[in-house]
Amino acid sequence: MFGSIVRRFLFCGVLFGSCSTLGLAQNTDGKTPPVLDVHVHAMDGDFPGLAPMCPNTSKFTASDPKEKEEPFGWAKEQCTPMLYPAAKGEYMKDVLAEMERLNVTAVVFGDAKSVQQWKDAEPGRVIPGTSFQDGMNPGKRVNLDELRKDFTTGGFKVMGEIGLQYEGISPSDPSVDQYFALAEELDIPVAIHMGTGGSGRANVMMPKFRGSMGNPLLLEELLARHPKLRVQVMHAGYPMIEEMLTLLQADSHVYVDVAGLIWSYPLKEVNRYIERLVDAGFEDRVMFGTDQLLWPNLMAYSVSIIQNADYLTPQQKRDILYNNAARFLRLDTKQNK
Ligand SMILES: [Zn+2]
Repeated sequence: MFGSIVRRFLFCGVLFGSCSTLGLAQNTDGKTPPVLDVHVHAMDGDFPGLAPMCPNTSKFTASDPKEKEEPFGWAKEQCTPMLYPAAKGEYMKDVLAEMERLNVTAVVFGDAKSVQQWKDAEPGRVIPGTSFQDGMNPGKRVNLDELRKDFTTGGFKVMGEIGLQYEGISPSDPSVDQYFALAEELDIPVAIHMGTGGSGRANVMMPKFRGSMGNPLLLEELLARHPKLRVQVMHAGYPMIEEMLTLLQADSHVYVDVAGLIWSYPLKEVNRYIERLVDAGFEDRVMFGTDQLLWPNLMAYSVSIIQNADYLTPQQKRDILYNNAARFLRLDTKQNK
């Protein structure tokens, strides 16, 4: 099991030991407006030896190849609140309870079997997603017919998380085109990891990872080949804002999520990046997400970043926290508007 945990660390970047002082969202009045989290990972909560985590660490540290190098680059800091991992075996239950408390519906990604467990546990709050990559075996592929079944009869709604960058290949690589062709044919949106990974230590942990393969403009050829494909650029292509804005300008089927980046980079930088997306005119294409893993309180913490963003209007906050994703996922929103 730990292999897949490590893989997900690599996928989305995580750490223990840093900081911030924002309060967690407190929504317990029963009238909490709905939130859509478009980027959650189905995990089973069996992670030995995990320390608490401080979100929005202020620094990434250098390392020396002559010495033993730690796998994560975040500086070790003190913080309030510190986020604690769930107790053994309690993770899914704790996250689902948080989703209930915060009125969150989430797109949950993972292998079909793991995601189904989440869906079974909370059918009304889980939108299932799965991908052609095998989390335990980078470079391995899920059979195309099997994937077709997941999306036609298995109830899966989003193809993701697709992390080709961790294999050092472009999303427009012809070797994976058949999967995107399937998504276009079935009218299933795809969610692709673009931007950074590895918490400043991709060189230590993930020798195949290439930052350059996270350039949002690498999606252009794919989008040209599949003009009806709807794409969620995960992590909003951080930190390549110019390339991200160029793609958003070029293609109206592209949305971004702010998952992962919202808690794993310095807070000023996070806010500046989101503000830039909004200031450039794309407030309708920014979707809230957490990259939820390990720490159940991460969801409330991440919601609070948007809620506390003084550069966003109340309407922009609602759009980012719910309306944009509801439109992207084509949810029936009559009751929630
Ligand atoms: Zn990711």
